[in-house]
Amino acid sequence: VNTMNDLQQLEELDKKHFLHPTSPIKQQQESGPSFIFKEGRGIFLEDYKGNVVIDGMSSLWNVNIGHGREELAEVAAEQMKKLAFSSCFATYSNEPAIRLAAKLAQLAPGDLTTTFFTSGGSEANDTAYKLARHYWILKGEPEKKKIISRTKSYHGVSMGATSATGLKPFRDFSSSIAPDFLHVDHFNTDALREKILIEGPETIAAFIAEPVQGAGGVHIAPDHYFKEIRDICDFYNILFITDEVITGFGRTGEWFGMNHYGVTPDMMCFAKGVTSGYAQLGGVMLSEKLHRDFSNFSSGTLLHGYTYSGHPMACAVALKNIEIIERENLVHQAKEAGEWLRKGMKWIQSERKIVGNVRSLGLMGAVEIKNAGEANSKGANPKSPLIVNEAAKRGLICRSVVFDHQDTLVFAPPLTIQKEEIEKMIAILNDAIKSIE
Ligand code: PLP
Repeated sequence: VNTMNDLQQLEELDKKHFLHPTSPIKQQQESGPSFIFKEGRGIFLEDYKGNVVIDGMSSLWNVNIGHGREELAEVAAEQMKKLAFSSCFATYSNEPAIRLAAKLAQLAPGDLTTTFFTSGGSEANDTAYKLARHYWILKGEPEKKKIISRTKSYHGVSMGATSATGLKPFRDFSSSIAPDFLHVDHFNTDALREKILIEGPETIAAFIAEPVQGAGGVHIAPDHYFKEIRDICDFYNILFITDEVITGFGRTGEWFGMNHYGVTPDMMCFAKGVTSGYAQLGGVMLSEKLHRDFSNFSSGTLLHGYTYSGHPMACAVALKNIEIIERENLVHQAKEAGEWLRKGMKWIQSERKIVGNVRSLGLMGAVEIKNAGEANSKGANPKSPLIVNEAAKRGLICRSVVFDHQDTLVFAPPLTIQKEEIEKMIAILNDAIKSIE
């Protein structure tokens, strides 16, 4: 793209040929793309018009180490030149996948020692549900197949992951929910107990939860919640799965969200931050016991595998990404930066009268706009989408959450963000809110 003409052409091609994921189709058709990004550096993205914006969401909560890391480009190129792809089905393997699985075993909580690789978070979730059901088949309890998840949860868009997702509009979109997926109120352990008893524990395979709910509006569980969940799952013989797709790899100021709660699940889904978005990778980690049981009880083939499970280039990128997180101490940095973010959000709360609660854990933050429920019931439009537009004009990308009568702004900047950069983010946000107050 060299001229305004080239850019206009690109916008027209976008409108005509590119159906965007999770996007307002009509608006996309009418106004075209709001940004066509050209390059990224650190916490910044630049588009073809020369706009430079702070990526306050780490794009999709995933660019943990920031944009423009040449080391990752180099490692990807090296691996592609050597071995771009080979199969991991059956007994074939490759070095980056093996080394990454071993590294993840070192980093993950408790005895999560074995990894099944996917290309992203939805596939990781579907894998976890299928492995949970298969586990109970192997154990001679095939009727244990229901999956329980929570309201306000987001687990992805493949059929299983959508069915588990608690945000109803995602399920209604394709008027379908796979059989045997159930939902309970997000922080209510009694509701889970009740649901288990009503359905019968002998019918339930697994319970899944995000350590901090991300897309649903950054909801942080009370301190005791996950210990109780672990106890309930143990008592009723139900597998406990955590979805660390957003919370993994330093986002909350710990390596994994569950580190805050001192609880180890039976399976842990991850994606996003494992490569900081530099390659498509996700996976499910299994506890040592689960892995042992799988090998002891299974006599046939594990009939679940994606072509790209254990992709050598993606795994090599993940290893380098993790090396950078360790070398630059980014998990600790996220904790510290999280404190600045929290302070900044509190300041906005004191300055702007339409701001209600603010909450955060590490570098996941949320600012609520007051009276969302009331406004919605009167048919008024939520304000957070307007604020997102105003913030973008002023150089900050953030997201609005309006599901379940919420009117909330959420943030998740790269873990590399510096104090002055957070101050800039906060100043832009304050101006954006002020402009629509
Ligand atoms: N799980 C959680 C908690 C997520 O936030 C997401 C994506 O945002 C997913 C799963 C789905 O991951 P993917 O989009 O890589 O399929």
